[in-house]
Amino acid sequence: MTITHQSLWQTDTSQSIEDKPLGHHEHCDLVIIGAGYSGLSAALHAAQQGMSVRVLEAQNIGHGGSGRNVGLVNAGLWTPPDEVEKILGQTAGIKLNHALAAAPQLVFSLIENHQINCNPLRNGTLHCATNKAGLSQLKARLAQQTARMAPVSLLDAHQTQQRVGSNQFLGALFDLRAGTLQPLNYALGLATAAVEAGVVIYTHSRALSYQHDGHHWLIKTANGSITAHKLIHATNAYESTSFCTRFTRVNYVQFATAPLTPTQRATVLPNGEGCWDTNTVMSSFRMDQHGRLIIGGVGSLGGKNTDAHLPWAHRKIAKLFPQISDYRFEYMWDGQIAMTANKLPKITSMGVNGIRLYGYSGRGIGPGTLFGKAAAHWAITGDEGLLPVAITAPKPEKHTGLKAVYFDMGATLNHWLSCRL
Ligand SMILES: Cc1cc2nc3c(=O)[nH]c(=O)nc-3n(C[C@H](O)[C@H](O)[C@H](O)COP(=O)(O)OP(=O)(O)OC[C@H]3O[C@@H](n4cnc5c(N)ncnc54)[C@H](O)[C@@H]3O)c2cc1C
Repeated sequence: MTITHQSLWQTDTSQSIEDKPLGHHEHCDLVIIGAGYSGLSAALHAAQQGMSVRVLEAQNIGHGGSGRNVGLVNAGLWTPPDEVEKILGQTAGIKLNHALAAAPQLVFSLIENHQINCNPLRNGTLHCATNKAGLSQLKARLAQQTARMAPVSLLDAHQTQQRVGSNQFLGALFDLRAGTLQPLNYALGLATAAVEAGVVIYTHSRALSYQHDGHHWLIKTANGSITAHKLIHATNAYESTSFCTRFTRVNYVQFATAPLTPTQRATVLPNGEGCWDTNTVMSSFRMDQHGRLIIGGVGSLGGKNTDAHLPWAHRKIAKLFPQISDYRFEYMWDGQIAMTANKLPKITSMGVNGIRLYGYSGRGIGPGTLFGKAAAHWAITGDEGLLPVAITAPKPEKHTGLKAVYFDMGATLNHWLSCRL
């Protein structure tokens, strides 16, 4: 039985937005490049405040990370909150931590307010310790979260086994602020809400150039152009250039099984929490609403890579969930993460009245939605004070191409070895 090389989320959606390429010239208050969570959240919130907004999307809505991710709605970043404050300094670090801790609430309330049909489940997430070092890491994270009054607890091995359905973990950090959703449907729901608020989204309309003439931004596509007072650039890892010095592109691959039988389903994540582990080459697993088990890890498909990642995924399931030996994979897909050198998201200046949002480093559902909303406030008021991070001058990072190759080859080797050792 062949595995369909396509994102599960694309086949599992009944939602769509009318395809509308730009074929003329027009003028608006705000133009946004990129229709993922960042761009769509910015568009929705700016239009709600009365701005005329146009979104340009090179492909279709959710083509980027927003239509391919795991669907874990996390509070905060990979980087633990103490580290964030160390990197940014006390005041800026506290501001970002505080904003991101509330990001899941923003996501789930947008879903509720706009009746977005994306299977939201706010049952918490589990960060699972694979060994003693991982458990120590979780204890340190717990102390940092407890100091910030976050509703986070450390489950012991037995409690983790009961929630996960696997005896492979020494414990897990249980974060009640977090949850899961169907990622593409969340993006499409944001797009629908934005259109209802008056936004026009042009799909298959790649922004080929953008420049400020002293009065306006002029953005050109193959068959049209837009002038606007303000510009928000929100293409994250999917920006057009193949070589990018703003961040390192990190690939992430996922495999989804066919729906498990009700008996199997009862033994794997019976409460539906989303999970990831403490391994250096990290992996994630979750269930979808049809009872599919979705397992993911760093890496990309294509070429010989699949020969390493597919056996790895089978082996991972065999190790974690030996009780479901009878299953098959139905879908596999990959996507790209924009990882900055310090793993913190950035807002950089593009000149007069233009900003770029990027670098969520694998945590974009909450942060992208939040940064988009804050960018809308900036577009309306010009006030930078409510942005979660300060606007900085663009600064290239070193060796991004080499690091991308290193991560991809390292993950392939790690997965290949894990099947042979
Ligand atoms: C496999 C994977 C798993 C992940 N898992 C999680 C997770 O579980 N939880 C989580 O919080 N985050 C996760 N992330 C990260 C998250 O998906 C991203 O951070 C988030 O989707 C970024 O949203 P965005 O709107 O900034 O960018 P994107 O969703 O990538 O959207 C950018 C859009 O810009 C468009 N574009 C590019 N160039 C142009 C142009 N010139 N003109 C017009 N349009 C253009 C692209 O086509 C794309 O649609 C994951 C990412 C991946 C890839």
